[in-house]
Amino acid sequence: MKLLTYEIDGKEIVGVLNKEETWVCPISAAGMDYRSMKELIRECGPSEMEMLEYISGRDPNEIRGAAPLADVKILAPIPEPGQDIICLGINYTAHAVESARFKKEAFEKPAQAVYFSKRVSRAVDPEGSILAHRNLTRQLDYEAELAVIIKKDAVNVSREQVKDYIFGYTIMNDVSAREVQTGHKQWYFGKSLDGFTPLGPWILIVDAVEFPPKLSIQSRVNGELRQDSNTELFIHGIEDVICELSSGMTLKAGTIIATGTPAGVGMGFEPPRFLVPGDVVECIIEGIGTLRNTVAE
Ligand code: MG
Repeated sequence: MKLLTYEIDGKEIVGVLNKEETWVCPISAAGMDYRSMKELIRECGPSEMEMLEYISGRDPNEIRGAAPLADVKILAPIPEPGQDIICLGINYTAHAVESARFKKEAFEKPAQAVYFSKRVSRAVDPEGSILAHRNLTRQLDYEAELAVIIKKDAVNVSREQVKDYIFGYTIMNDVSAREVQTGHKQWYFGKSLDGFTPLGPWILIVDAVEFPPKLSIQSRVNGELRQDSNTELFIHGIEDVICELSSGMTLKAGTIIATGTPAGVGMGFEPPRFLVPGDVVECIIEGIGTLRNTVAE
C-alpha cells in the first residue's frame, strides 16, 4: 500500500493510492480525519491501516472524493518534517571509494556509521524544483537514497523489534553543494539549503516489501543512468542504525532517516559532473517509484 499527500482545489489532503496507481482516494473515505501525514503516522492504528488497504483495492468510482492521479498535484509525503532528517554518510562501499577520491583522502570503510543531519523547512515536491543557489555553489550534486520513516517513538529498540517501529519508506534526493559541504568541514550547511530535499513521490508501507528491503536504487540525470545499486549493499543496515540510535536518543514518530547513497554521484566522475539549471534528476527505487525534479536557477 502507498500513502501520499496531494493537493486538489488548493487543499492539502492525505490519501491512499489505488493498486493500479491511477487514482487517489482521500483517507476521509475510510472515515479518518487526520489533517497531515505526520498526524496519521502518529495516530493511525492497525484496523485503520487495514481499512486503507481495503479502499486501495476497491473501484475508485465507488469512493467518494476519489480523483484520477493525473488531476491532482502530488506533494512531498511529509511536506514539513517535524525535525531535521537523520542522514547516513558513506553507507555503500563503492560510494565511499568515489567520495574519498574526490576529497583526496585515503579510502577507509567506516567501522561505525557516519551520521549527520539535514535541515528541511519544506521538502521539495515530486516534479518540484531543486534550487541551484548559484551564489553559493557550482558543485551541485544529487544523491538517491532510501528514506525510512519511523512509526512510533523508538527508545532502546532491539534488532528484532526494529521492523515494528517502521511506518514505511520513501525516496529522498540528498541534494548537496559539495564545496560548501567540504569547505565548512561539516556537512550541515551544504546539505540543508532551501530546495535541497526532494521527497516522495509517496510512502510505501513497511509490510509491502520484505524486511530488510532489498531494492534496486538508481538515479538518472536527463535520462542518463548515473547510480545503479541495491539497498542490500548498505554497510550499516536499517536494523543496526535504528537499534544503535535508539539506544541513546528517542526517535520520534515521523522521524525520517536517509540511509545513504550509492556510487555514481556527480563528484564521483572524473572530471566531476555537477548539476546545472535545467537538468532533470530522477531517483528511482524498485517498488516505490520515481522521484523526478528539475534544477531551477
Ligand atoms: Mg546522502
